[in-house]
Amino acid sequence: MKEDRIGRDFSSRDEWDQLDLVSVMWCDYCGRDNVGIDEPDEYEVNGVVYLEGECQECGQTVVSTIPEKVSQS
Ligand SMILES: [Zn+2]
Repeated sequence: MKEDRIGRDFSSRDEWDQLDLVSVMWCDYCGRDNVGIDEPDEYEVNGVVYLEGECQECGQTVVSTIPEKVSQS
């Protein structure tokens, strides 16, 4: 199955949004969340948005899905 990876601009999100998303990142290597990440890279695959980065504690790559906010009320 082919993965269509669409790049997104994480830095275009506002600062609070970025902090919020980074704060829920989970690192399997450290075994905890809110580790903080370097080199955030946001992308979309098959309609699911991912945020990938390097754990600031251990330097391993961590990936988290980002729930898309639904604007409909
Ligand atoms: Zn870590």
